[in-house]
Amino acid sequence: MPLPASFCPTLVGCLSQGAAGNPTVAMLEAAFLHHGINARYINMEVTPENLADAVKGLRASGYQGFNLSMPHKVAVIPLLDGLGESAAAIGAVNCVVRRGDRFIGENTDGKGFLRSLSDVVDPKGKTVVLFGAGGAARAVAVELTLAGVGNLILVNRTPERGRQLFNTIVGNLNGNGEMYPWEGDFQLPSDADIVINATSIGLYDVDARLPLALATIQPHQIFADVVFNPPSTRFLCDAAERGCKTIDGLSMLVNQGVLGVHYWTGVWPEVSVMHQALSAAMGC
Ligand code: NDP
Repeated sequence: MPLPASFCPTLVGCLSQGAAGNPTVAMLEAAFLHHGINARYINMEVTPENLADAVKGLRASGYQGFNLSMPHKVAVIPLLDGLGESAAAIGAVNCVVRRGDRFIGENTDGKGFLRSLSDVVDPKGKTVVLFGAGGAARAVAVELTLAGVGNLILVNRTPERGRQLFNTIVGNLNGNGEMYPWEGDFQLPSDADIVINATSIGLYDVDARLPLALATIQPHQIFADVVFNPPSTRFLCDAAERGCKTIDGLSMLVNQGVLGVHYWTGVWPEVSVMHQALSAAMGC
């Protein structure tokens, strides 16, 4: 007797290390349930030595795709059959999609951020100050450049890392940008439209303060933070107190999930359902 369809779900994995209580599992499974999609999202602990075997196993087992967290985002690239445009420019993959019999690497970090930002403002032609030059900043900077920002002002503590990102944005992608080392409290230029924290300052620390001259904040500016735990960071609170609109890192994470569900199933899922499930799983 043939098995009912529910015995053959679409399988999506998440290859991570040290993410046993991964809250994105609850968020993605809530989307599948809400839309009646016969799919499962399965978190797997994989060490760097086992990454190649794990990817081979997912391929052989018919997985529709998978997410990757650190430290696998760069190491996975040679194990794939191709890269999307922004994943290639960023040099990191956090979402793999099976297209035909090929595993294609995408990067939803920056795309998720852009979706959250675009709900509030179109970044095209805008002047943006971006703090940080690590993995998240790189993804955000590449997507903002592909979206046509007017001027991307990069600010990073370690100048060499900032310069590398500047070279990608201005050298490789022909974007418009400037780069400043971060010395003391950064003074926001008066023409800045959007200000983004893409550093890890504020992660697990509500009191952590970004070196920023608060007196240079203006109420027309939009502030966004990539830090999602806690979602209400001091950076965003300081901006909100001065009349600015703010966008938290939780909505970036939800929008990454939205893009993943779309890549793997073709369905655009309900954002509010995923937001609620993620907030509940994180207890915030
Ligand atoms: P990285 O380690 O790659 O980069 C960290 C960045 O923060 C670097 O630019 C680093 O500067 C800067 N930084 C850290 N501490 C300080 C400090 N005290 N003063 C000045 N700069 C500092 O981390 P990621 O880019 O991967 O992650 C950054 C944050 O983004 C994390 O909180 C992560 O949780 C979050 N994130 C959120 C996502 C979401 O969906 N909301 C998705 C991905 C990440 P330097 O180069 O000088 O070391």
